[in-house]
Amino acid sequence: MEAVRLYKKNLIKVENIPFEDSLKDDQVLVEIAYAGICGSDLHNYKTGCWISRSPSTPGHEFSGKILKIGKKVNSLKVNDHVIADSRVFCEDCYYCKKKLYHLCLNLGFVGELNDGGFAKFSIQKEKQLLKISKSIDLKNAALIEPLAVALHAISQFDNSKYNNVLIVGLGPIGVLSALSVREFGAKSIEIYDVNKHRLNKISHQLNFDIFDPTEDISENEKPNFCIDATNSPKALQFILNNIAKGGKVSLVGLAHDLSKIEVVKIVEAGIELYGCAAYNNELNQAVSFLNKLSNYISKIISQPISLHEVPYYYEKLLKNEVEDVKVIIKP
Ligand SMILES: [Zn+2]
Ligand SMILES: [Zn+2]
Repeated sequence: MEAVRLYKKNLIKVENIPFEDSLKDDQVLVEIAYAGICGSDLHNYKTGCWISRSPSTPGHEFSGKILKIGKKVNSLKVNDHVIADSRVFCEDCYYCKKKLYHLCLNLGFVGELNDGGFAKFSIQKEKQLLKISKSIDLKNAALIEPLAVALHAISQFDNSKYNNVLIVGLGPIGVLSALSVREFGAKSIEIYDVNKHRLNKISHQLNFDIFDPTEDISENEKPNFCIDATNSPKALQFILNNIAKGGKVSLVGLAHDLSKIEVVKIVEAGIELYGCAAYNNELNQAVSFLNKLSNYISKIISQPISLHEVPYYYEKLLKNEVEDVKVIIKP
C-alpha cells in the first residue's frame, strides 16, 4: 500500500509498505477518501516534536468509508462514512476522569501514536472514529477536525462580553475561527496576516475586514477578543500591542520562543490568555456546524493532491508558497 512516512525531523517519504487487513476485535478498516495537511503535521516535520515512533504515517484529519470491522465493533458498520477523532487519550488519568480529554496526561494523536490517514487505507480503533451522515461531502468532512479546533478556540468568546474580534494568522484554524465566530454573531471581526497577498485574498473571498494597526482607534473600538493562530511569537506581541484592556486571547499557535513577549503588558492591561489544546467536546458540534460553513469551506480547500505530492507540498507550505488555506490529499 502506498503511504506517506515520517521518519524524523525533515525526513518524509512516500513508500509502498506491506499492509494486512486482518483486524483486532476493536479495530476498523477505513478506505481514506480525503486527508488534510495540518499545521501540526508541518510542525512535527520541521521540529521533530511529537514523533513517538518511526516511521509513522501522519494524517489525523481524514474522512473515509468503512470496509471491514472487528468482531466487537458495534457502533459502526461496513460502508459507514467516518472521520477521525484525532485525540488518543487514556481514559484513566486524573483529567480523563474529569472528562477533560484534551488535557489527558498521556495524550497523543492519530498519525503519531499509530498510523494515520496519509495512505490508501487506515486501521483505527472504533473509539477513534466518528460516524458522519452520508449527506456530508467527504472532501469537506476532512475539515471537521480542524473546525473542532477552531470552535474550541472561540469557545471562550462571549457576545455579551466582547464586541471586537481580531484573528491573527490566516491558516486553516484562523480562517475557520473567523467564519465560525461570525456565525456566533460577533459584531465586528477583523483579520490580519503578515502575508499581505493572503490577507487581501481572504478578506475579499470571504468578506472580512482587514485590521489596520496604524489606524488610531478609541478604546471601545479596540479588539477585545483575539485569536493567535500563527506559529510566530511576534503574533502574540502584535496582539498585546493592539488589544483593549481586559481583553482575552485564545492561543492556538505553537510558537516556541516567547522570550521576546512583554509579559508586563499582559499584567498591566489585565489580559486573559487561554491555551487551546486541540478540542474537547467540539467534534460533534463541528459536524453540525460544517453545513453552515460549507459554501465558504469549498472556497478554501485546494484541488486534491496525490500522496506523491505530499513531501513537495510540505516544503511549499512551510515556505508559505501555497495559495489555498487547506491542502487536501486524495490518496
Ligand atoms: Zn490538525
Ligand atoms: Zn488520560
